[in-house]
Amino acid sequence: MSSFKKTGTIDDFQKFILNTYSLPDDRLYSIWDLLAQQQRFTMRALKGIRKDDIKKLRLNLLISLSWLMAIGNRLHINIEDEVWTRFPRLCSYCGKMPCICKAIKQTKRSKIRINNTLRPHSLSAFQKMFNEIYPATGRTLAEAGVHLAEEMGEVSESIHNYLGQHLQKQFNEVRLEIADFVSCILGVANSANIDIAKELSIMYIDNCHVCHKAPCVCSFSEVTYLKS
Ligand SMILES: [Zn+2]
Ligand SMILES: [Zn+2]
Repeated sequence: MSSFKKTGTIDDFQKFILNTYSLPDDRLYSIWDLLAQQQRFTMRALKGIRKDDIKKLRLNLLISLSWLMAIGNRLHINIEDEVWTRFPRLCSYCGKMPCICKAIKQTKRSKIRINNTLRPHSLSAFQKMFNEIYPATGRTLAEAGVHLAEEMGEVSESIHNYLGQHLQKQFNEVRLEIADFVSCILGVANSANIDIAKELSIMYIDNCHVCHKAPCVCSFSEVTYLKS
């Protein structure tokens, strides 16, 4: 039996997705399919915000994060490392905690020094770290949702660019955009008081959250018409 524990790391979660879903993912889904699913469930999460439906938001946020992990697995990107390098307990843009981008109208990315002794040791600690860098009190849930949509588009754009020309600098962009997307998932979660690690541990207590098998045996069409 494969599960994700609420004390687990981002890396544990990515490995859980690898163990549970890489077989069907590799056989049934192109990277474009993975991307389409990640986008589809992100959009469903946003619908949850618009409808003020926290259950819908929560479930779809968890599923979109799961598909993002599958994209990381397909491209052999260690998502936790990318998130930490991009957000080493500092805003990736102004280089401060809490972020002061808005207050000082920062227009250029600051140079950031990474202090690895400050790295969070769990997904839950990463979520808390993001609330320290970008306090939920500084934005509405809808604003956090708009930012998530923006970053979702940038993940897609970066993958399209990379798979078009296969340049290393484009691959590096994919890594950054994936980290930004994770920061926004955790930002929306902070704005909506959703404990992502705890919710994932409930959802993924026993393999795939739908068929409860590892590897997952959900068919392509079942996933396509999965209702939430
Ligand atoms: Zn900032
Ligand atoms: Zn399944």
